Amino acid sequence: MFANIIIDITHEKLDRIFQYRVPSRLEGELCIGMEVNVPFGKGSRLTKGYIVGFSKTCDYDLSKVKEIESVAKNSVAIEGRMVALAAWMKEHYGGTMIQALKTVLPIKQKEKAKVKRRVRLILDEEAGKKKLEEYLHKNQKARARLLAALLDEPVLDYELVTKKLNITRAVVSSLEEQNVAVLESEQVFRNPVKKRELTPSEIHFTEEQENAVARFWKDYQEENYGTYLLHGVTGSGKTEVYIEMIRRVAAMGRQAIVLIPEIALTFQTVMRFCRCFGNRVSIMHSRLSAGERYDQMMRAKAGEVDVMIGPRSALFTPFPNLGLIVIDEEHENTYKSEQVPRFHARETAIARAGMEGASVVLGSATPSMEAMYRARNGEYCLLELKTRSRQQEMARVYTVDLREEMKTGNRSILSRKLAAMIQDRLDRKEQSMLFLNRRGYAGFISCRECGHVIKCPHCDVSLSYHQGGRLVCHYCGHEEPRPALCPECGSVHVGEFRAGTQQVEELVKKTFPEARVLRMDMDTTREKDGHEKILSAFANEEADILVGTQMIVKGHDFPNVTLVGVLAADMSLYSDDYRAGERTFQLLAQAAGRAGRGMKKGEAVIQTYSPKHYAVTAAAAQDYEAFYREEIRYREMMGYPPAAHLLAVLVSCENEEHLEKGCHFLKEYAARVKGKAPVSVIGPASPGIGKVNDIYRKVLYLKAEKYDTLIRMKNRMEQYIEMNSGFGCMRIQFDFNPMQIF
Ligand code: ADP
Ligand code: ZN
Ligand code: ZN
Repeated sequence: MFANIIIDITHEKLDRIFQYRVPSRLEGELCIGMEVNVPFGKGSRLTKGYIVGFSKTCDYDLSKVKEIESVAKNSVAIEGRMVALAAWMKEHYGGTMIQALKTVLPIKQKEKAKVKRRVRLILDEEAGKKKLEEYLHKNQKARARLLAALLDEPVLDYELVTKKLNITRAVVSSLEEQNVAVLESEQVFRNPVKKRELTPSEIHFTEEQENAVARFWKDYQEENYGTYLLHGVTGSGKTEVYIEMIRRVAAMGRQAIVLIPEIALTFQTVMRFCRCFGNRVSIMHSRLSAGERYDQMMRAKAGEVDVMIGPRSALFTPFPNLGLIVIDEEHENTYKSEQVPRFHARETAIARAGMEGASVVLGSATPSMEAMYRARNGEYCLLELKTRSRQQEMARVYTVDLREEMKTGNRSILSRKLAAMIQDRLDRKEQSMLFLNRRGYAGFISCRECGHVIKCPHCDVSLSYHQGGRLVCHYCGHEEPRPALCPECGSVHVGEFRAGTQQVEELVKKTFPEARVLRMDMDTTREKDGHEKILSAFANEEADILVGTQMIVKGHDFPNVTLVGVLAADMSLYSDDYRAGERTFQLLAQAAGRAGRGMKKGEAVIQTYSPKHYAVTAAAAQDYEAFYREEIRYREMMGYPPAAHLLAVLVSCENEEHLEKGCHFLKEYAARVKGKAPVSVIGPASPGIGKVNDIYRKVLYLKAEKYDTLIRMKNRMEQYIEMNSGFGCMRIQFDFNPMQIF
């Protein structure tokens, strides 16, 4: 018997299967996914590796085949199914098998189980009382005290016995020897979810919610597992729909994973799951201790929970009978891993569900272009919730043209309209949120008079301002000098677009001295529970105005917020990549959705230099359809995802010259091996950050209609890189359909 083993060394050259003999002493003890110690290399140094398969025959010279030494101590075995998923991830996202295996195994180390000990009375009451008399008679006070307590309460917590009753271990032992009581120990799993009362749902589903669940359930019962896109405006009751779906799946003895973008920002949602599923729900998040995380996984494996909630990594929960994966706010960037393998949770969830016979539900008010494109193509089933479940009206949205403000002499980041509306809320004792979207921000150049943005003539994305006055395209490498005057209108007010939350906070304080202002951004949320502190202060109406970055537009319901201001929509609109429009629409639509969540009607103001841009007009009209129509046209025309697929090849090296050469050869090779395949090779370009810690970086883009074509290209390039020692000093990573441009 031979085992196929992946050695635990992240090195492309060693990224293949090594065969080892299974010694007879280990026969029957090994299984796929187990971590073992094996002699490796010339010196036969003991090295760790994972078993990924077994075979009866050996493909190598038998005399050279080494033997597995032992099973690694304290390691957690990867489930066989997860090994298959890891192989899928390696194929689809690149990287080594060991990196993929480590990704599907979120907990690597066994943690010491927490043991709970109890003292249990084993005599019946009559015999117990007799024994008690005997102890009292012999003046054995400690024994008598323990036995008396046990006669009251036949099972006592050991801690309680030793601490409160002041009884030593020796006394407990003596009762054990006399067959009066026993000391039991039971392993308990640490459970971060505190027990709470279960409140049965009293919600009557709207017809749309009813239909969504019914459609899903009909397919499910017919074992017709698939992927669903639940597109529902904010407040349409998506979460309730997930809960109902999970309830039904759990009733069949199957388990569900619920992915959420970030625990701190979706705390209210998590609490709702806890209310419904009580201690059958478990939460994974970064603040859990290693022990707690380990226990969560073990509880899941043992089938002790029905629902696992968590960020991306919760996708790898080893449930015995996974039935459903829900991805809430599926459009969020956090679902894409920025570490090798750079996987996307959406695609990986669908792959896992396919392997295990489960369904996937993606939910969003502003679905990603990818998800909607696939839904329109019939790959996913579209479920829609068009009305708010509690019949609140959507916020009324105003668009303010900042060019007009400029013309009339107002250069402040607060337009007169927005300032007047803030004042109005202060007078009415209602709250406002001011939002500055800095995501995807790269220094693009625009004109403050006419709003013109300087774009790449080849790629239709904005050019980025680099030091030394050059404008650079991060896709194709096109460069041009920075103009002194606006090429559109000749104005001198062309420049980098800049503003920060801190400046906004100061300005707001100065403009409204009577207002209480809170700020939420990276700086103010750094400490533990930073998010929650600020959000709960605002929820308790300890402030009138909350200024912040995109983190303030997520998930939370503030019933007293009746005004949301977006200070500069253009910040994300003209970041330098093809997802800029999508990101902007999502942010603006979600921001507008924050206003008027309570009984009072909400209003929103979007300030922009581009009031006619479809991402802005569609968000102002809360019209997803209008946005999608325009955006997909652009993606199709330019060949950007989801209309086509894009593979970024990130190359980095300490030596700039080597890097240049490496990219050149790689590009030539790609162009050569693609043959007649419809692949375009673009770049190399300098990424936004061209040098990190003295390591230079470049990026090549490959564009193709089919994902499979790009996988083939990646595999060929990986081989080429491995065969050529010239690439030895370089780090090369692949990123399929990157979330941002590098
Ligand atoms: P979403 O996830 O789409 O933003 P939620 O599920 O959070 O929407 O629902 C918004 C609010 O409406 C929640 O407080 C929820 O309990 C409530 N809700 C959802 N569905 C209904 C319904 N059918 N009837 C009454 N209230 C509902
Ligand atoms: Zn201009
Ligand atoms: Zn370009």
